[in-house]
Amino acid sequence: MESVPIGQANAEMVIDLDAIDRNVRTLCRVAGDAAVMAVVKADGYNHGATRIAATAVAAGAREIGVATLSEALELRDSGIEAPIMFWLSGPGDDFAAAIARDCEIAVTSERHLDAVCAAARSAGRPATISIKVDTGLNRNGFCPRDYRALLTRIRCVKDAGLIRVRGIFSHLACADDPNCSITETQRSRFLNALETASAHGITPEVTHIANSAAALTRPDLHFQMVRAGIALYGLSPVATAAQLVPAMTLQARVVLVKDIAAGEGVSYGHMWTALHDTTIALLPIGYADGLPRALSGKFSVLIGHKRYPSVGRICMDQVVVDVGQHSGVREGDVAVLFGNGRHGESRAQDWAETLDTIHYEIVTGPRGRVRRRFIGGASTTTAGQAQNA
Ligand SMILES: *Cc1c(COP(=O)(O)O)cnc(C)c1O
Repeated sequence: MESVPIGQANAEMVIDLDAIDRNVRTLCRVAGDAAVMAVVKADGYNHGATRIAATAVAAGAREIGVATLSEALELRDSGIEAPIMFWLSGPGDDFAAAIARDCEIAVTSERHLDAVCAAARSAGRPATISIKVDTGLNRNGFCPRDYRALLTRIRCVKDAGLIRVRGIFSHLACADDPNCSITETQRSRFLNALETASAHGITPEVTHIANSAAALTRPDLHFQMVRAGIALYGLSPVATAAQLVPAMTLQARVVLVKDIAAGEGVSYGHMWTALHDTTIALLPIGYADGLPRALSGKFSVLIGHKRYPSVGRICMDQVVVDVGQHSGVREGDVAVLFGNGRHGESRAQDWAETLDTIHYEIVTGPRGRVRRRFIGGASTTTAGQAQNA
């Protein structure tokens, strides 16, 4: 989509690869001796997984993490050669493909281990796995109850050459709350899990538990690697001194400008009525494109150097802003919905606060007719990256 001339996209996410590069370097510095795994699940938090992964690796990230096998395979197909781990398997997953393409499998149950071993047997090569232990998130991963039995089995299939145990890891429930005691509980359970594994003769190459929040605030949780997702994209779930730059800008073209008279209602339900004669501008982005309808009348856009309020209901395809008379706003102008905030535009964080959600949900929102366009990152535009990834 890089080749789409700007005028052709009515609404677009502009992804600043220089911001990604900078954020990764910042994270590598913060991580110190620990490696950085760049988490690019959900299409790189909607920023474009392949380009983000390539940029992150060039900037110093050592590994790539995704949720699903198909996400991992897509990255391999796009030429990403760094280690890739995926941690959310389903019963129908083709583990033989994971083994053949050198994707590391996070194993989360004994049934899962059996399926991985069967695939390794038929592939005639060992599967590379990490053991995911549940230390208190109570989502996926091994429960402490099943852990010893599992370790005995793992030792056995490892000795049989069916698997290589690359890592042991866990995921935090409340790292974004610095005062939450659950993190301490999870830390001590994780240390226990590592000790128990060692007592079973299982000594992994890497251990890790930190997400972005812990990477930024808890050096004692860095272990040998941190798994950074949201911080790569320039957003932090916690207060931090680290200088992160939001990489996504959401913007749309003004497609129509027109005057309306005082007393006229605007958009479905006339939830807004003009108090005086004014001029409105129409933007071709709506809730089908991921602009949350709940933001109706609760956000503003930057056109030129000025902010203008959105008015009336957000529709499926479009939304209206009140630019007032004599604003100089013209059809074809660019309206910035959110960005890094440096030019006075809203940030994803502002929308999150308005909607009582988290910025993760805001940046993964744009879809539908919104095009993605990359800027910056000249140093990473080498071959092997899908042009439109
Ligand atoms: C999504 C995810 C991460 C990254 O979390 P952030 O808060 O975005 O840094 C790390 N580890 C696992 C297992 C995840 O699912």
